[in-house]
Amino acid sequence: MTKVGFIGLGVMGNSMAKHLQASGHELFVYNRTQSKANELVGLGAKWCETPREVAEQADVIMTIVGYPQDVEEVYFGDDGVFAGVHTDSLLIDLTTSTPTLAIRISETAKEKGIKSLDAPVSGGDLGAKEARLTTMVGGEEAAFSQAEPLLKAFSAKVTLMGPAGAGQHTKMANQIMIAGTMTGMVELLAYAKAASLDLQTVLDTVGGGAAANWSLANYGPRILKGDYSPGFFAKHFLKDLKIALDEAGKLEVPLPGAELAARLYQELCDSGYGDDGTQALIKLWKKFT
Ligand code: NAP
Repeated sequence: MTKVGFIGLGVMGNSMAKHLQASGHELFVYNRTQSKANELVGLGAKWCETPREVAEQADVIMTIVGYPQDVEEVYFGDDGVFAGVHTDSLLIDLTTSTPTLAIRISETAKEKGIKSLDAPVSGGDLGAKEARLTTMVGGEEAAFSQAEPLLKAFSAKVTLMGPAGAGQHTKMANQIMIAGTMTGMVELLAYAKAASLDLQTVLDTVGGGAAANWSLANYGPRILKGDYSPGFFAKHFLKDLKIALDEAGKLEVPLPGAELAARLYQELCDSGYGDDGTQALIKLWKKFT
């Protein structure tokens, strides 16, 4: 049994922390909005008042907050994780954040003589609920070996991709692909509706052929039900696309498909739908909804 600290108990973190707790680990939790920890605390997790207190009490500290600036605050703030670490600490940031920040956390951890990993996840809210996430890890082998059994509590696949930042780069590659599958899915539905096809039959039929993909299988049915709840917040996907485009710019790789998706998600968020799930992109096709 490991003393695991868990910071960030939103859509993803809540389910992931529950799997760790169900695996028998002792949990120390913190979230900006305390009420989101109520269920876990009811199941035996210990509430901490600050990220610093989490780091003081636990040996492995996992974080999954919203944006890179949230990660920065949680790690480097006055009452942040780094203020509370001790010699046995292992830090694992599961947030989708920037490779640059992952490297900064890794360098600070090294200065303090402790281990750290960046370990963003893919698989959505359902993947988190059902412990079927894919976890992409950046960091050193020794830290990975220690973390792997814990990450498997909520992941179907855990892979060490390379040094610090490599997990975040892999997640960006993942999001570049999703940019294509989300725009493809909503255009498919907008077109099929305009052509007066039965949309459920279209999903069932093309979902069994070469057009089959995760976005279509998971978000197509939600759109047909009019369910735009997150899932995966549109505002978070826009954040990811901006990080991917920024990194691609540094690497001098043109990404016209991801640029188009970023423009569409920017329009969606500017229209007030940033707190909807990513499937709400269909709302830009006004004749559809
Ligand atoms: P979420 O529901 O917004 O969860 C984030 C949680 O972090 C919230 O509960 C938030 O607190 C907390 N938080 C933010 N800043 C904090 C701070 N400074 N101190 C303490 N707690 C803080 O989002 P999510 O869907 O779980 O996503 C979390 C991360 O995973 C994002 O980076 C996202 O891009 C990534 N991700 C999401 C999915 C998905 O399908 N949902 C899939 C893969 C990756 P409040 O409760 O006060 O808002």
